[in-house]
Amino acid sequence: MKVLVINCGSSSLKYQLINMENESSLATGLVERIAIEGSKLTQKVDGREKYVLTVPMKNHKEAISHVINTLLDDVQGVIKSSDEISAVGHRVVHGGEKYSASVIITDEVMKDLEEFSQLAPLHNPPNIIGINACKELMPNTPMVAVFDTAFHQTMPEKAFLYGLPYELYKENHIRKYGFHGTSHKYVSQRAAEILGEDIKGLKLVTCHLGNGSSVAAVNGGISVDTSMGFTPLEGLLMGTRCGDIDPAIIPYLMDMKGYSYEEVNNIMNKKSGVLGLSGVSSDFRDIEDAAAQGNDRAKLALDVFHYRVKKYIGYFMAAMNGVDAIVFTAGLGENGAETREEIISDMEWFGIKLDKEKNKVRGQERIISTDDSKVKIIIIPTNEELMIARDTLTLLK
Ligand code: ADP
Repeated sequence: MKVLVINCGSSSLKYQLINMENESSLATGLVERIAIEGSKLTQKVDGREKYVLTVPMKNHKEAISHVINTLLDDVQGVIKSSDEISAVGHRVVHGGEKYSASVIITDEVMKDLEEFSQLAPLHNPPNIIGINACKELMPNTPMVAVFDTAFHQTMPEKAFLYGLPYELYKENHIRKYGFHGTSHKYVSQRAAEILGEDIKGLKLVTCHLGNGSSVAAVNGGISVDTSMGFTPLEGLLMGTRCGDIDPAIIPYLMDMKGYSYEEVNNIMNKKSGVLGLSGVSSDFRDIEDAAAQGNDRAKLALDVFHYRVKKYIGYFMAAMNGVDAIVFTAGLGENGAETREEIISDMEWFGIKLDKEKNKVRGQERIISTDDSKVKIIIIPTNEELMIARDTLTLLK
């Protein structure tokens, strides 16, 4: 049985075809610049040269139709007939309070997704477009929605409520939702397997550090708190997002600088984070290079980022009355040895000790704490696509 996983953004689309018999990836691909000049599809299949198709794609339906044709292609393809795709699993960013687990997509689910677009105006609309395009092209194939917010629906009220008038929660659904749930769930389960322990007895802090970053407190296999909030802007400092700031800064900027609401929003989402502080780049590799060459602001941006992650680890250890393992995942968490070393430095008092030699590794599953560290530190490459495919398969059955 083969499951196609689709992660659809506003102008890009990532896909992966997974053979669920052995959970192996048959093909992965990326379509970029959908509806923009220079549309391009790139597909990777193990043991083959990367395939690039440059052809105009006016919309997501055309993009997905090129994906299917490429998967079926005599030379580049990996399947003979589209019937081999048993189901499609879609990543959907926001599932509101209604969805605490993945669901088979029905008309009612589509209606809910439209409603949640109000809560995630940047993310849910492209997800919906992707689902509709797939439905048109594969009308008889079951589709499943896997939500970024679902894993965090187990947070208790004390963790997800803001100190705002309660009516704003009840009437306008303003609360912490949290994101990257599929990744936090995958690495938590994997951590339990690596440690050879029942997840029900484990307290984990999982650090998903990429362009967008979040930390989660996972107690007994369920999320009890996380750093992202009502939107993915809260929490850690990110590539271009500011993360936690005093909310009073927003009206202050509007008053003092005459900025419009759009300008402030743009600053907080696109011009802040390590890009805004360093003035160099939103990419951590560029900033680390600049810092190594003596750029003080690049160094400062990294310091602020590391300190913020450290603080969240501290919050969540307090929330759970301890931690058994700290997990690093996503682009920076998996590859950034320096980042891990800085975040974990000076935590011996908690019984958290990094083995600097073991830490010198990129993108590999590995325990990187010292043998006498009370708390384990683990690198686990995330696999959101596999998680989506597993949920899809479970629902099909
Ligand atoms: P996204 O949120 O877009 O999925 P990723 O998880 O791919 O992001 O992470 C991208 C980030 O990971 C970039 O900031 C990049 O600089 C960082 N990164 C990737 N490889 C390395 C590396 N070897 N060293 C330091 N940072 C890295």
